Amino acid sequence: MKDCVGMDSRAYMAMTEEHVLHTYNRFPVVLESGNGVYLKDVNGKEYLDFGAGIAVFALGYGCQEYNQALKDQIDRLIHTSNLFYHRPLAYASEKITKAASMSKVFFTNSGTEAIEGAIKAARKYAYLKEKRSDYEIIAMEQSFHGRSIGALSVTGNEHYQEPFRPLMGGVRFAKFNDIDSVKAQINEKTCAILMETVQGEGGIFPADAGFLKEVRALCDEHDILLILDEIQCGMGRCGEMFAWQHYGVKPDIMTTAKALGCGVPVGAFLLNEKCAAASLVPGDHGTTYGGNPLACAAVSAVLDLFEERQIVAHVKEITPYFEQQLDRLTERFDCFAGRRGLGLMQGLVVTGRSAGEIVKAALEEGLIVLSAENNVLRLVPPLVITAEDIDEMIDRLSAALSPRS
Ligand SMILES: *Cc1c(COP(=O)(O)O)cnc(C)c1O
Repeated sequence: MKDCVGMDSRAYMAMTEEHVLHTYNRFPVVLESGNGVYLKDVNGKEYLDFGAGIAVFALGYGCQEYNQALKDQIDRLIHTSNLFYHRPLAYASEKITKAASMSKVFFTNSGTEAIEGAIKAARKYAYLKEKRSDYEIIAMEQSFHGRSIGALSVTGNEHYQEPFRPLMGGVRFAKFNDIDSVKAQINEKTCAILMETVQGEGGIFPADAGFLKEVRALCDEHDILLILDEIQCGMGRCGEMFAWQHYGVKPDIMTTAKALGCGVPVGAFLLNEKCAAASLVPGDHGTTYGGNPLACAAVSAVLDLFEERQIVAHVKEITPYFEQQLDRLTERFDCFAGRRGLGLMQGLVVTGRSAGEIVKAALEEGLIVLSAENNVLRLVPPLVITAEDIDEMIDRLSAALSPRS
């Protein structure tokens, strides 16, 4: 193996751009290592990380128990295929179904694939009832569910969809948090209503409690399945293990990914008893890698650590301070028009300049934050952040927003 350590960061960037298909405008930073809530680049510069690899690294970097669990599994067995049973699958499946209070799980390699599986499960459930082949799914405007053709078809973003038509048929869009708009799309072909409990990429919009309850009631009335996408907002991020637990509304199918493996690529869709009993069966769905021993060891370790370290309770406890400090910041700087969010998934609405500009300025100050759409600064830190980390974030963000002398 060619050892390139010591090379200038510009050389790594050039090497990458020469070979990797240019589908991302990356920041000019070459990350090298992580410790707690800090990342270090190849030049030794430190960054306070309020992006967590897009809401992935919930436990913070360099978590020894997590790393050890992965190392142990790597030495034992990395992959088996789904033609066999293995111990990590037994444990991971028991823990995630319990954490989500759902009946059954199917592990995938990504969030996108979890959405694909959820769509297939919903269609199969409807098919078994009436054997139609023209079922429809109602999805939400400004939503995000992934980039494969199926997931893109239910993503309410014209810009993402336009170059890739024809997409999957049988999708109707309704306005998020507008129950009349959902009602207007329902007909005898509707098999599922799909939404993020808290919209992420679309700009950090939590579902209104009344809206979600009414959607649930509509679904019950028409035997339509409610699919909640918890890929970004789930896994403790919003102050409950899954964001829907705030609302007293339960989905029939839910998806999770991002923080589920804390960096090992793994997602899942979970079904309630009714759905699990009458949907996908052998021959209907599969994956070579999904839920392999390494991925399941990660899920298992993450769920154990969530319990041991009381991560969800910590998120609940730290959230008011986070919100208060963000509110103070929005009062101090004219470029912010307000704040939206739930738990450690917060968005600051930006006016008069682009969120992307602020993200770049923050990076200069050694702070990683994200944007959502053009006008929302998105903060999704590791779930283990402390009050001091929040203070440090506010200092660095303030410096990034202040004119340099
Ligand atoms: C990130 C995301 C996805 C897609 O997950 P990938 O792992 O990138 O495939 C789907 N839904 C939501 C809400 C997401 O935030």
